[in-house]
Amino acid sequence: MRDFDLLVIGGGSGGIAAARRAAEHGARVCLIERNLLGGTCVNVGCVPKKIMWQAAQLREDFALARGYGFALPDPPVDWRHLKDARDAYIARLRKIYADNLAASEVTHIAGAASFVDPHTLQVNDETLGAPHIIIATGGRPQVPDLPGAELGITSDGFFELQAQPDRPLVVGAGYIAVELAGVLHGLGSETTLALRKDLPLRSFDPMLGEGLLERMRESGMHIRTRQQIGELRQAAEGIEVYDPEGEVIGTHDCVLWAIGRSPAGDELNAPAAGLTLNERGFIPTDEQQNTEAQGVYALGDVTGRTALTPVAIAAGRHLADRLFGGQPEARLDYRDIPSVIFSHPPLASVGLSEPDARAEYGDAVRVYQSEFVNLRHALGEHKPRTRIKLIVTGEDERVIGCHLLGDGVDEILQGFAVAIKMGATKADLDRTVAI
Ligand code: FAD
Ligand code: NDP
Repeated sequence: MRDFDLLVIGGGSGGIAAARRAAEHGARVCLIERNLLGGTCVNVGCVPKKIMWQAAQLREDFALARGYGFALPDPPVDWRHLKDARDAYIARLRKIYADNLAASEVTHIAGAASFVDPHTLQVNDETLGAPHIIIATGGRPQVPDLPGAELGITSDGFFELQAQPDRPLVVGAGYIAVELAGVLHGLGSETTLALRKDLPLRSFDPMLGEGLLERMRESGMHIRTRQQIGELRQAAEGIEVYDPEGEVIGTHDCVLWAIGRSPAGDELNAPAAGLTLNERGFIPTDEQQNTEAQGVYALGDVTGRTALTPVAIAAGRHLADRLFGGQPEARLDYRDIPSVIFSHPPLASVGLSEPDARAEYGDAVRVYQSEFVNLRHALGEHKPRTRIKLIVTGEDERVIGCHLLGDGVDEILQGFAVAIKMGATKADLDRTVAI
């Protein structure tokens, strides 16, 4: 058996951050990854998604450019070139991750880890021991349990597509559904988005889902609300999609499930560590990422808390600081985490939505809203409006929520997030001279 100070299961955003920070504090660390270093974000998540989003944004700019006097037709995208260039960029990133682990003197083992006991893991044909073990195994996309579901793909399959679909159907209502539907539509596919309710992104402030739906419709994307899917069948012309009553609702060359993600904790042999997964398969943790087993910690998507890369990274670094950096109080504050949805246009949100604010603060809540046409669109055919909503509470009008829709909001949110974390009031914002 090889002994370390810390074993980290999973080489994604959270695992790598925790491993490197612990090693910087002098710990002997081993990280075990069963697939590709970098995990979801680097290989099949944020990074390739954002490249595809940029590509779609660029194509949309051709339409805008015509208003400025550039006589450009809408160009078709060379999907093969885009995919190859994207994959090559990600391969370079993976190498940087591997080099950084080596530079931090973290031992990296390729293989799947499972618990033998709370301080011992089985990996390939060897056992590894440590007083501390971090579980950072992330999640995987869900596929619905209905006939023919396997004819569809998930976000993982989206990044493997060798050619651009002509008539894709995207099913779902969260981040991934609106982002990938937006990419496909923006790149010129005749895209349909099927929501099982009336709005996408229902956990956000309603201004965002309502505004995005309006913009997606204006852009020509087909939207089916209150649309349940019952079955998929392969036909000569494509995949036939049926509703639960057996009516055909469309034929598509690609069906993409974007209905949520499940935790990847099921292959860990968790009971051997004394861990019980919750009813949805997540590993429960306290505010310092402790699990119910002494010396076993969990962070990132597998915990069921805010499933975002910077959250997994921050949780990993705080935990390493606590275990090896002499900072016994270190922990991530999960409140006021800013988040951007890379739809077309992008959406940005930090703090409470209006309904959540009213539920928590009642009549003390006040809402300020504004909208305008970004000057960038002044000469364009369409005049999309940027929308801003500020939610404040109390006599001092402390800002407790900020929600934005429109070009550029993905970049400007971070500054508002700093101000809100510092306790900014509406008066603080009013005192700031506009740019
Ligand atoms: P992961 O990054 O999933 O890493 C877990 C790793 O553990 C994996 O590499 C897996 O192979 C490995 N593993 C699992 N079980 C074992 C085992 N038994 N032994 C060894 N290794 C194991 N977040 C953002 O903040 N911004 C975005 O723009 C964004 N876009 C996204 C787009 C898509 C399409 C998707 C799917 C996700 C996106 N996310 C985004 C979410 C983000 O990718 C995740 O929140 C983040 O990757 C979680 O990090 P993690 O360390 O918890 O898990
Ligand atoms: P989400 O949890 O964001 O959304 C999934 C939604 O799909 C549900 O909320 C539900 O909405 C709908 N849904 C669920 N089941 C079904 C079904 N059977 N049929 C139709 N619709 C269904 O999951 P995602 O997969 O989009 O993303 C997973 C997580 O990854 C996100 O929550 C986020 O944390 C992270 N992520 C972050 C990104 C970013 O930061 N930009 C980008 C991508 C992912 P309803 O109840 O309204 O129908």
